[in-house]
Amino acid sequence: MIVLKFGGTSVEDAAAIRRLIAIVRPQLDRQPVIVVSAMGKTTNRLLECAQMAELGNLENAYRRVETIAADHFIALDQLALPEEIAEVRDSLRRRFDGIRDTLGEINQAGRVTPRLSDAISSCGELLSSVIVAAAFRWEGMRGVWVDARPMMQTNDDFTRAAVHFDIAYPKLKSGFTAALTGGGVPVTQGFIGSTSDGVTTTIGRGGSDYSASIIGAAIDAQEIQIWTDVDGIMTTDPRVVLDAAKVKVISFAEASELAYFGAKVLHPSTLLPAMAKDIPVRVCNSRRPEIQGTAIVRKAPPSRALVKAIAFKRGITVVNVTSDRMLMAYGFLARLFEVFDRNETPVDMVATSEVSVSMTLDDPRHLELLIADLESFGDVSVERDQALVCLVGDKLKYTPGIAARIFSSIEDVNVSMISHGASAINVSFIVAGKDVNHAVGSLHREFFTDLDEETFEGTIAAPAGA
Ligand code: ASP
Ligand code: MG
Repeated sequence: MIVLKFGGTSVEDAAAIRRLIAIVRPQLDRQPVIVVSAMGKTTNRLLECAQMAELGNLENAYRRVETIAADHFIALDQLALPEEIAEVRDSLRRRFDGIRDTLGEINQAGRVTPRLSDAISSCGELLSSVIVAAAFRWEGMRGVWVDARPMMQTNDDFTRAAVHFDIAYPKLKSGFTAALTGGGVPVTQGFIGSTSDGVTTTIGRGGSDYSASIIGAAIDAQEIQIWTDVDGIMTTDPRVVLDAAKVKVISFAEASELAYFGAKVLHPSTLLPAMAKDIPVRVCNSRRPEIQGTAIVRKAPPSRALVKAIAFKRGITVVNVTSDRMLMAYGFLARLFEVFDRNETPVDMVATSEVSVSMTLDDPRHLELLIADLESFGDVSVERDQALVCLVGDKLKYTPGIAARIFSSIEDVNVSMISHGASAINVSFIVAGKDVNHAVGSLHREFFTDLDEETFEGTIAAPAGA
């Protein structure tokens, strides 16, 4: 068995869905399970409808629903068998009726509760999966629509629900094994699940990758393929460095660091379930299926490359706490971090001296409360609009002099916090948000001008003047 996950752009219209089928067809003997995202930008569009309803603009919200519906019906009309089109159309229509009902509820409540938000945003995947399953039947295969929700059990932390693996795994396994029998091609939804009471939840924006990995782990898949609109994991964001190259093979540990520290290709939790079961993950481009993509494996083959990729995250907030009570005290950090726990704010990076602690957050939602709490520890200062830059490579941990090489290549940029653990495969640091493009450009020239062809694919231009 294998799992193939197709992202929003890979199911955005009838042409994209035909490409999807052409990708799956030659792999039918591997018993594929198909996991889809919502079509194109549907999730955002649905959430915009919810906001309109919240603001009392129900008419506009309904009009917006009509345009979303039109896009889905256009795709369906090009992809469904004549004998079943009326029935499938009806099922989509019922889904849109449900969306309008929920918008009415939001309008009444004057508020999009997290639960109502999930009731709306989950519909993108429920719609796209119906169309994709129909498209398989139109192409002569046995497309079987599978509702992920009763199997993908979660808690009730709506909009970012946590999966109950012990319940979900056996349910997913038996559900998909049944759907595969007799040559069925199961088509299911990423991103969504349900509570034990059957209330629909979502597992966080961009969560379809994570769903695919959970399903892969549940069914002990041979491979998990993530089909997207880029060639794979890149040496850095090609929008910032035009000649970024593709990384051909990378380890789970390296790819996880990248996803966590800002590379957009994969949802940060994606690799955990796959890693636990040692299932290789491949990231591929659905517009260019002939190229290899990036293989993510337990142990990457030896490479000359010191750095495999550079990720970055903008919009980082740095919080500094200075207190001479910290000097020689024990328990201080523990108490300090309890504040973050209480305010449900994760910390990405920490640096400490005898009398001060600096921490970075990328979720400033609870910042005001957090600062108020932290002020009982000492002086608090906050720097906004910072960026975290992270270089990843499993050779970084054995390489003397690496820090000197990194920081001399960005001498002209002010670096404020640095983190490089003894066994860490990453070096991360903070720069001002306005400097991040320049810093990443310089680092990329330093580390990726002479590419190891075993590890990378692409042509990196020589630096100007060289
Ligand atoms: N459709 C969801 C989102 O836009 C999940 C996903 O695409 O991964 O966040
Ligand atoms: Mg995604």
